[in-house]
Amino acid sequence: MADRGADDRGVAQAIATRLWNSRWLLAASLVAVLAVYALAGISAYVLLLALAMLLAAALLPAGATRQTGENGAAIEAIGLQRLSGEYLAAAVADPLIIFDRTATIVHANAAAFAAFGGIAPGMSLSLKFRAPEMQALLDGVLSGDVASDVVDYTEKLPVERAYRVSASSVGHGTDLYVLVFKDQSEARRIDRMRADFIANASHELRTPLASISGFIETLRGPARNDPAARDQFLQIMQSQTGRMARLIDDLLSLSRLEMKPYLKPGTEVDLRQTVDSVIDSLGPLARENGVVIERDFAEGPLDVPGDRDELFQVFENLLENACKYGQSGGRVVVTIARGDADSEPGIDVTIRDFGPGIPEEHIPRITERFYRIDVETSRTQKGTGLGLSIVKHILTRHNARLSIKSEVGKGAAFQVHLPTH
Ligand code: ADP
Repeated sequence: MADRGADDRGVAQAIATRLWNSRWLLAASLVAVLAVYALAGISAYVLLLALAMLLAAALLPAGATRQTGENGAAIEAIGLQRLSGEYLAAAVADPLIIFDRTATIVHANAAAFAAFGGIAPGMSLSLKFRAPEMQALLDGVLSGDVASDVVDYTEKLPVERAYRVSASSVGHGTDLYVLVFKDQSEARRIDRMRADFIANASHELRTPLASISGFIETLRGPARNDPAARDQFLQIMQSQTGRMARLIDDLLSLSRLEMKPYLKPGTEVDLRQTVDSVIDSLGPLARENGVVIERDFAEGPLDVPGDRDELFQVFENLLENACKYGQSGGRVVVTIARGDADSEPGIDVTIRDFGPGIPEEHIPRITERFYRIDVETSRTQKGTGLGLSIVKHILTRHNARLSIKSEVGKGAAFQVHLPTH
């Protein structure tokens, strides 16, 4: 309602301005009409009509060019009246604080109130933000040394958030200044993850490399003339190069997945055929580990939209893990079933083993890159620690879900729910 009143006042003001600007034209016209009236004796009705037309001409928006210019200025004046500093601050999504030259808060937008508890107009900024970098920022703009400045500032409580804060004076001679806080926490988190990932990958590559280089040294030195040791060392070196190659393959798979974040639409995957070929390809590994793979597939077509090679990799990684880590159970059951009627329509592929299972506390983290329950077991099983993170990545692209259920001592079940459309 208040805005409506402000609008009406603005329009009345614009009309008054127009009438005032046309005052000489109106006066001249009035004199001319009176003169003609006096000379020709025209009726009073005609006179009134002429006056009304003159008034309308003065008020018409599409008047002379000069008037258009004046209209523009009047409209701008109305617009600026409505564009209050408060509205502008509210339209900014980042926390924003306006303060005066005594560093007292004059206004803060809603984002600032949400981010910094306990701020209020009238409060001293120097008391609220005591960090030296913030004090230096405020001093810099308030002393007039710089018109604007930027610092990085971390707010510790209630949760740690990293901001890039810019301070600048508002216009000329307003004696007002503005602080804008850009939240950098997400970007920092991604940077940290990237750095961790590189550190982990380098560490994983360095370990086999150190072992290979150690054996080369031994072979050139003490074991130079020992054929039995040479054979044994060469075998270890070969398995270490295999480990490095597997790691590089997995790293490349992950980066390929990141490079093409969207699936090519319109391709269907026959899950029966895909899972069948995964089981066939892992036959030798299962036999080697003394594991029997059982199939329990639903009747009829089992097609889902997706990328066949990627889904092949998902089931290969899951079945390989079941054969390796669930080896002691002696069997693995692969089930393909149509999803429950009450949930989202789709197909569930479950790979269940009867091995040691996964302790509950590890389940939420098991799909993280390089996360293993036991590093030594993973290494002896030729694991890279990247298998399940590749699975998760591919499933996300397929709008699919992975659920992991396990009872320690009884085995683990990895269920993939793939939507049918
Ligand atoms: P890795 O290359 O080490 O196998 P994954 O990402 O595939 O890496 O798996 C991560 C970890 O999850 C494994 O190191 C293992 O500790 C655990 N894990 C995966 N599958 C199973 C399973 N079926 N039973 C028990 N533990 C498992």
